[in-house]
Amino acid sequence: MPLDVSQVPLVGGHPALDLVNTLERGAPPDAEPPPHDFLSDTSALLRWAVRVGLISDAEAGRAGQAWRDDPATAHAGLAAVRDIREGLYLVMLAAIRPAGGGSADDPGGNDPIAAGAALVGLHERWSAAATRATLVLDRGDPPQVRLTYGTVPAMLIPDRIAETALDVLRTADLTRVHRCPVPEGGCGWLFLDHSRNGSRRWCRMADCGTTAKARRLTDRRRAARTGTP
Ligand SMILES: [Zn+2]
Repeated sequence: MPLDVSQVPLVGGHPALDLVNTLERGAPPDAEPPPHDFLSDTSALLRWAVRVGLISDAEAGRAGQAWRDDPATAHAGLAAVRDIREGLYLVMLAAIRPAGGGSADDPGGNDPIAAGAALVGLHERWSAAATRATLVLDRGDPPQVRLTYGTVPAMLIPDRIAETALDVLRTADLTRVHRCPVPEGGCGWLFLDHSRNGSRRWCRMADCGTTAKARRLTDRRRAARTGTP
């Protein structure tokens, strides 16, 4: 039984990477059953967006109301978010260095042509979001002018997600974005490595790291029994 979106581990270290990790990764594209999507419907998307801090409870109320008033915009919003998620995943796969130099049996791979097309799509999503953004003067101390995305309630969540996707691409140190290593038993999720020496291998040591360690131990015992290396 897959976890609900309120329980999906937030291991990405950036909301945009947590977005990528709302879909199970690491299985071949034609896997049966298909990978589980934690953003199963618009209500899951609303709850997830609040949980990762992209929108406030009040904003979720406004976005949810706009979607109930016009369900077509709700479906379009969810489709836009999934589109940004897959575009960002393709770009990240092409941009990041695979741990251990990569491996032929890793179904992730990287595809520069698909990544280029994905960047065009991400730019389109972001420029549409930017046309709906406003500049707001905050008279605090010190005063500052802020660019606020998401002024149209029905597009609030896709616009904030376009903003955060651009943020991770432009500001994150991509040498610090790692993929939980699928060939070694990891899950394929992406995470920003904040460790001092950049040597974090697993999205969750307690989960993927331990599974991989147990698998290596089983392999070694089997090899010892059968005499194969
Ligand atoms: Zn993992």
